[in-house]
Parts: sequence; structure tokens; C-alpha cells
Amino acid sequence: MAKYIVLLGPPGAGKGTQAQIISKTMNLAHISSGDIFRENLKNETELGKLAKGFMNRGELVPDDVTIAMIRDRLKRPDCVQGALLDGFPRTPAQAQALGEMLAEWNAKIDSVPYISVPAQVLIERLSGRWSCPTCGFVYHEVFNAPKQAGVCDKDGAALYQREDDKSETVKRRIDVYVEQTSPLIAFYQEAGVLVEVDGILPIEQVTEELLAAIL
Ligand code: ADP
Ligand code: ADP
Repeated sequence: MAKYIVLLGPPGAGKGTQAQIISKTMNLAHISSGDIFRENLKNETELGKLAKGFMNRGELVPDDVTIAMIRDRLKRPDCVQGALLDGFPRTPAQAQALGEMLAEWNAKIDSVPYISVPAQVLIERLSGRWSCPTCGFVYHEVFNAPKQAGVCDKDGAALYQREDDKSETVKRRIDVYVEQTSPLIAFYQEAGVLVEVDGILPIEQVTEELLAAIL
């Protein structure tokens, strides 16, 4: 049966970093809503134009477009074995919609690891985050530095800092997380699928804890 895992946690918790590692270990498609939005922004699609203002302000893109986008993505052939969701759902309405679409496909959420990290650490992480524009790999200038500063280890592309990782927008994103996304912790706890993982540990140890919680 297909396996669906939702990675929950604030911006900067390490969802993307961990998803890149464990999606390979588990042979599951890594679905990052933020990456899909950024791809649409880059290609200047209608969806990208719609999402741009929300993303630059650190706000959430409206539920209806986000839900439709993820529904389409989960129907693609690489998701027949399930998916590792990173950044979706982010609101109670999205969580509700995800539950309904999985039920329609006779599937369910297997596990929701919640990566917890205190707010002050998040700011430090996001301000030092560097991403690869071609392969999407995420680095940190101190905690997970590339071999050569500013250059991707995997493909040699010049790394960039995200527009929304600037300090004012980071604060707004953390507030938005507290207001709109953190209620999902209780929601999934009540559903009996939440497992909390200490996100303050080094990357490799978080991976170990996550795998122990999921497998
Ligand atoms: P998210 O997807 O949850 O926003 P990322 O995976 O992009 O988070 O990580 C945010 C930043 O923190 C990146 O620069 C990443 O390299 C760094 N990072 C991720 N996990 C850890 C960790 N366990 N310890 C220290 N830094 C980390
Ligand atoms: P982070 O890794 O820092 O948590 P993401 O890359 O997941 O950030 O998301 C970047 C931005 O994309 C968000 O601030 C928001 O504007 C938009 N976005 C991503 N996922 C969602 C979602 N599930 N619902 C609404 N907006 C989203």
C-alpha cells in the first residue's frame, strides 16, 4: 500500500534537508510545495504570478490554488508508492483536503513527524541558508557548508539566498506558522499519527531519529 508521510515544522526546521535524505532511503517522491511554487515563479506561469506576492510577503498562498496544485502533483506516476510531503499541509483546510483526497484513493497518512526547533534558532538557520538553483540542494554557511563557498557540491552551480529569507520576511513567516500551521500539531496528535523529533540536533542525528520514528 502507498505510504504518505507529512513533515511538519516551522520554516527553517530542516524539513527540506531531511526530506532530501530520507526520500532516497525510503524510495518515496519528495513533494515540496515551496519548490513547486518557486519553479512556477521562475517559469513565470499563471500560478507563479499568483503566488509571487504572497511568497515575497511571507504569507501563505491561498488554500484553493495550493490544494489543487498538490492534488495534481500527487496524481503523477512517481507517487504511486506514496509521497513524502514537505511544506504541505500548512493550514487546517489543507489538512482536511489532504485527508479527503487520500481517502478517495483508499490511502491515508501513515506518519507525521514534527521537527521542533525554537524560534531563535530558526532565524539563525534561515539567514545562513543557501540553495542550489538547479538541483535544489540546501546548504548552510556554517552548519552544512558546501566544499567551496557559494558553489553547489553536486553540480557546481552558483548558490543563491532566497528573497524570503531576509530578516523582516522571516519574522512574518514564523508568525504565519504559529497562527496558521501550528494548530496542525494538535490535529495530527489527535489523529494518532504525530511523532515529535528534536530538530536542534545535528543533521545526521535528526535523520536517525526520523527514520526510527517512521520505519
Ligand atoms: P525547512 O525546509 O524546514 O525550511 P531547511 O531544510 O531548508 O528547512 O533548513 C534551513 C537551514 O538550516 C538550511 O540552511 C539547512 O542547511 C540548515 N539546517 C537544517 N537542518 C539543520 C540541523 N539539524 N542543524 C543545523 N542546521 C540545519
Ligand atoms: P520553508 O522551507 O522556509 O518553510 P517553503 O519553501 O516551504 O518555506 O515555502 C515558501 C513559501 O511558499 C511560503 O512562505 C508560502 O508563501 C509558499 N507556500 C509553500 N507551501 C505552502 C502551502 N502549503 N500553503 C500556502 N503557501 C505555501
